[in-house]
Amino acid sequence: MSFLKEIQKNVENAANEISAPDFLVKDLKNPDRFLEFKIKVDNEIFTGYRSQHNNLSGPYKGGVRFHKNVSADEVKALSILMTLKCALVGVPFGGAKGGVKIDTKKYDKSKLQSVARQYVQKAFPIIGPEVDIPAPDINIDPELISIMVDEYSKIAGKPSPASFTGKKLRDGGIDGRVEATGYGGFVILTELMKSINKDPEEVVVAIQGFGNVGYHFGYFAKRRGFKVVAASESAGGVLIKEGIDIVKTKKCANEKGTILDCFCANGSCGHEKGERIKNEELLTLDVDVLVPAAVEDVITKKNANKIKADHVLCLANNPVTSGAEDILTAKGVEVIPDILTNSGGVIASYFEWKKGLKGEEISKEEVFSGIEKFLRPAFANLREKRRCGSSMRMSAYKLAIENLMKKHNE
Ligand code: NAD
Repeated sequence: MSFLKEIQKNVENAANEISAPDFLVKDLKNPDRFLEFKIKVDNEIFTGYRSQHNNLSGPYKGGVRFHKNVSADEVKALSILMTLKCALVGVPFGGAKGGVKIDTKKYDKSKLQSVARQYVQKAFPIIGPEVDIPAPDINIDPELISIMVDEYSKIAGKPSPASFTGKKLRDGGIDGRVEATGYGGFVILTELMKSINKDPEEVVVAIQGFGNVGYHFGYFAKRRGFKVVAASESAGGVLIKEGIDIVKTKKCANEKGTILDCFCANGSCGHEKGERIKNEELLTLDVDVLVPAAVEDVITKKNANKIKADHVLCLANNPVTSGAEDILTAKGVEVIPDILTNSGGVIASYFEWKKGLKGEEISKEEVFSGIEKFLRPAFANLREKRRCGSSMRMSAYKLAIENLMKKHNE
């Protein structure tokens, strides 16, 4: 089943189980509006998308992704997840998502910047500070977001810092936004371990995806004493049973262009000592917590039986298919859903958006404690209300849809 169809089916099942009105069930299965457009740069054509799924809770909100696998269906599916995420944790935003189908590895910075500018030109008629506020997702950094704000402001004819979140600090961003999604995942990890009385030192963690989210999650987890033994990028990863030095590894991966060039088996190659592993191997390591923080659909029916972790903390969007989740749940593996664990980013975005609109300054400490204030009760609520026989994901969907029903009835 395709990613979109799977999300639609899950939404329909969750909504029907709580007897949501037919209108809402139908409404939540498809975006309110979907825009597809050409981006033409240097005689090359790329396809861009913006999906505005639902705005019952507030203005549409969701990241923009530059990736070779971006498709209309993927963007629609991710926009549905954004609506559910905001409704679950109580951030006053609706759900949206955007993307450009582009293999970023093939292009230099200036080309990607031109693509980003044109993305804004094409999406301009439907986005804006009070309507739809895009943010970073895969392969989008604060610099690209600042460029998008610059383009938006030029077209709007006035500075519009609230048009995007995830900007560079000097362009109206906030300290803590870059780390926010990883930090939120870390907050959920600590709550989860507290709930089963495990100290961080007893908990072994593997992270798939060592980009913005995976790295910052690993950084905070390691700092608190969790033992992170494996991390990977798209080309593969590294396993160090004694624990990875997260900061040193990221610095090296940035310098060399890949984590793989930072380690070799016996350390004799001039690099650190560490075992190189394939992504598939990382997923099946015997760890306490497995953290998929890269892309969707990495744990499927094909490999679910091989997962040895006790908990899967979904930091990427939809990294575990529903079929795989059934297998994992039957095996006693607890899967903590993406719409809870990766919501730190949108929570911080909310603070940044308010700063852009009203000039409300916020410190990094306040951003982090704000994320905790949203996430701790959301985790406790989800744990408490987890319906008999339901997976955590379906329970999360039901809670989110209940909140949307309340908005619908207001
Ligand atoms: P990123 O581009 O910074 O990093 C992605 C990482 O995943 C890179 O290390 C890349 O090498 C790796 N990767 C890509 N394909 C892979 C594969 N097939 N197998 C293993 N690794 C692979 O992106 P990010 O911002 O860290 O986002 C990661 C995930 O988190 C995405 O699913 C994204 O939608 C989700 N997410 C991000 C945010 C945010 O604030 N950035 C918020 C919510 C959710």
